[in-house]
Amino acid sequence: MNYPWLENIQKSLLHQFLQGRLHHAILLTAPEGFGKRVLVNQLAQAFLCLSAENKPCGSCKSCHLFTQQSHPDFMLVEDDNSKTIGVDLIRKLVNKSQQKSQMHGAHVFFLPDCHKMTEASANALLKTLEEPGQNKFIILTTPHPSRLLATIKSRTQEYTIKPPSAEILQPWLVAQNVALEEFEKVYPMLESSPLSALEFIKSGALQAQKAYLAQFKSFLGGQSTAYQFSASYDEDKVDKQLVWLLNALKMWLNSKLKQNGRDLELALKQVQICDMQNLVIQVRMQMLQTGMNKKLLYQAMCNKLSQILRR
Ligand SMILES: [Zn+2]
Repeated sequence: MNYPWLENIQKSLLHQFLQGRLHHAILLTAPEGFGKRVLVNQLAQAFLCLSAENKPCGSCKSCHLFTQQSHPDFMLVEDDNSKTIGVDLIRKLVNKSQQKSQMHGAHVFFLPDCHKMTEASANALLKTLEEPGQNKFIILTTPHPSRLLATIKSRTQEYTIKPPSAEILQPWLVAQNVALEEFEKVYPMLESSPLSALEFIKSGALQAQKAYLAQFKSFLGGQSTAYQFSASYDEDKVDKQLVWLLNALKMWLNSKLKQNGRDLELALKQVQICDMQNLVIQVRMQMLQTGMNKKLLYQAMCNKLSQILRR
């Protein structure tokens, strides 16, 4: 699958590779849902392809092995069963990088979510990251570049994938059967991540969010009580519900901040919205602690929201 917002960076990196001037350690950063993994797989297949032109050709032995996920010169450095990338995995990478490639072409190492490296892992990688050897490439991706050690970042060439413009998104959305107008309602809330926004719409979460926020609006407008609003509690979705509340409050506050009045009423409304935001943030943090009764916390939150509204 090709994502139009990745075309430029893909072409640029492939061009640098073909000209023999690609940096041996590439760091790609973007929030979740930008297609980083797809991009790296396409690049890796092209770097490993044995064809003289049109890389990746899709038909050489290397391309076949790659699409079957059994290419001997490609290494995916991740552990599904662990929250970290441990030092053992990095040692495997280092060992492999010291061997000759089996297909007599390039060697590609891919570290998705590289911020999961422990300090020991990062330190074990430094030397190889600096000098992996000829025709060997290490590609790291992360949505959290600020969590990387400076010693890792300084040894890589970093590329940040920017959120695509509406112009780039529109033809893609048409192909996905999604209206731009609908998309733009959720897109900014999800770190401007096109794939997360698409998933949000396709999974029906957009409808659920709309229905939930309609209940919240009715509560804010006094058409329903705190008790009635607390019935919106959904055990499986409560974290999402709180995020929807926070986004709605953020948008409400922004609209109030844009009003240039200096009157006391406006200032009080702004404080009121801030207080509601802080309350929701606090409740969300409490819910993350184990052993807390989420339903009770939610009911208490609704009562407190009501008190803030009645001030
Ligand atoms: Zn090929």
